[in-house]
Amino acid sequence: MISQNQSATDRLAYDFHMHSNISDGSLSPTELVDRCAEAGLKTIALTDHDSIDGLEEAGQACRARGIRLVHGTEISATWNDKNLHIVGLNIQTDNGTLNAGLKGLQEMRQERAESMAKRLAKVGIPNALEETAKIAGGGMITRTHFSHFLIDHGYCRRPDQVFKRYLGQGKPGYVKTEWPALETVVDWITDAGGYAIVAHPQRYNLSATKMRNMLGNFAEMGGHGLEVIVGNGAPQDRNAGHNWASRFNLLASAGSDFHGRATPWIKLGNLPPLPAGLDNIANHLSIAPQTKPTQPPLNATS
Ligand code: AMP
Ligand code: MN
Ligand code: MN
Ligand code: MN
Repeated sequence: MISQNQSATDRLAYDFHMHSNISDGSLSPTELVDRCAEAGLKTIALTDHDSIDGLEEAGQACRARGIRLVHGTEISATWNDKNLHIVGLNIQTDNGTLNAGLKGLQEMRQERAESMAKRLAKVGIPNALEETAKIAGGGMITRTHFSHFLIDHGYCRRPDQVFKRYLGQGKPGYVKTEWPALETVVDWITDAGGYAIVAHPQRYNLSATKMRNMLGNFAEMGGHGLEVIVGNGAPQDRNAGHNWASRFNLLASAGSDFHGRATPWIKLGNLPPLPAGLDNIANHLSIAPQTKPTQPPLNATS
């Protein structure tokens, strides 16, 4: 569903969800901003997992290229035993509550990485911690880094296989993690003056009823929005997102979740416009213009 003054080829000039190598992206913040500039983006949010450490470098790169940076992060949370991802947008980076919370998560990640490596050693995969830490460049370790290690060392061919065989719930490398409660994460983001947004709602394997319960709880806790447009999202996902945003009175966000190597099928600057009739978070962040100059159709001759 697109509004009357948008065409099917329009692409958003903003993107509120992407990763640098501060978390599990493959590009440095500066390289990422360069790629965003090449892709014609005018406003971006850097949303590294459980970290805001890339924002300063991204801010410098954005200033040099005339791009607006929205300060963001993507925080791991627990709701009803499920691991959810909550994007925080427009956060104040000097907020004590948020910084203390993120520091705790980074410590949990280090302990989890050590436990994961021990579990992998038990199934005959040695040196996982050392090798994964090298891939992470000494920074935060995520399951994405473990997946790159397992692929690079020939244990698997593709990321989806790695998660199915080794890193997904119940598999040999899986370690259950007590991420903070959803309400706690919403409070951190709100305390830092930000907007709390449920990331990629379709990725949690929630039944229709559980999804409604989760979004209802989230709205009651003071959560602000959800991603209606995600990288490579299907039209039916967009329609579901539209319905949920309307029903729970949530703002609608759009983000690619670009990681580079880990998401080779996601291209920057390729997000379609939001369905009409939603309360767009871009308006709350005073962001314009909403779409890039229309590209000619791919089969156009010149
Ligand atoms: P972590 O936050 O350390 O548990 O790692 C989660 C990250 O792993 C997500 O942000 C994704 O980037 C990646 N991931 C999770 N599941 C999959 C999957 N099935 N295939 C590829 N990447 C995945
Ligand atoms: Mn990730
Ligand atoms: Mn995520
Ligand atoms: Mn993400």
